[in-house]
Amino acid sequence: MLEDIIELMEIEGRRRNAPVYRLKSFLKTPFHHLIFTVLSSRTRDEKTAEACIKLFSKADTPEKLSEMDVKEIEELIRGVGFYKVKAKRIKDLAKKVINGVPDKYEELIKLPGVGRKTANVVLASAFGKNAIGVDTHVHRISNRIGLVSTKTPEETERELKKLFPEHLWAKINRAMVGFGQTVCKPQKPLCDECPIREYCKWYKLKA
Ligand code: SF4
Repeated sequence: MLEDIIELMEIEGRRRNAPVYRLKSFLKTPFHHLIFTVLSSRTRDEKTAEACIKLFSKADTPEKLSEMDVKEIEELIRGVGFYKVKAKRIKDLAKKVINGVPDKYEELIKLPGVGRKTANVVLASAFGKNAIGVDTHVHRISNRIGLVSTKTPEETERELKKLFPEHLWAKINRAMVGFGQTVCKPQKPLCDECPIREYCKWYKLKA
């Protein structure tokens, strides 16, 4: 059943052309994934994508980004939330990963501006490792459906890891993000059009 839920979310998100599935065209290296994920906090994926496309057209490697002026970076990423803080942060980050983005959680988490969620998203999306990045979509949807009953993303990650077999971990973030962007939205989820409503606690309580 758990595998079915993830698969149905993925199919629906793709069918509805969720923004998360349009990222592949410009996220080509682990460095791109890292920068995208750092810029995406508190920002819609469409806005983050626009900023990354502009930024990578000028600097698509750690070397180039680390040599840019912070003011110039600010101009390129102006559409994302807290762009001034993030401009400085990604420049610092670029200096730290000149020799490559690490593919281990313990190393990623030491980088400036990289927290638990970012490290896990990068591990799963850039390296295909078994990790679950819990952002607001994953936290909200997991609780709505009734997969978990948790207060924090850290608890959600822990509980999801107990529930799901490891080979599915890397798929969870993208499937839930795409589904959250299009169907199980924060406000007014489209429950009557939802392909997993028969599994959903929220839906059953409403019915
Ligand atoms: S039934 Fe509604 S609340 Fe439940 S997963 Fe579907 S859209 Fe979300």
